Amino acid sequence: MYDKICRNCGTYLSDYYRTGMLGCPHCYTAFRPEIAKTLKKIQKSAHHEGKIPTLDPVGKELCEEYKRLLSEKEAAVMESRFSDVKRISGELIDLKAELERRGLL
Ligand SMILES: [Zn+2]
Repeated sequence: MYDKICRNCGTYLSDYYRTGMLGCPHCYTAFRPEIAKTLKKIQKSAHHEGKIPTLDPVGKELCEEYKRLLSEKEAAVMESRFSDVKRISGELIDLKAELERRGLL
């Protein structure tokens, strides 16, 4: 069976599908395309049922990742690592858009 693994914490993509939980912030990057698809599905069903999911483990992980990237960017700015700043800024834009769509930011 096709599966992906997060090399940082050893969480499989199938684990994520099963539990809806990411093992670590790196999982978000490793499984980004699959998470985006799942989020779309959740948004559709939430809209269909007319309720906002309040228990949202994925959203919580995304918030954590956003905070982590913000401090990482700050560190990169302080150390004048401009290529890192640029890369992290790009990730933050994606993440911010997703958090805003989920009403978490
Ligand atoms: Zn992980």
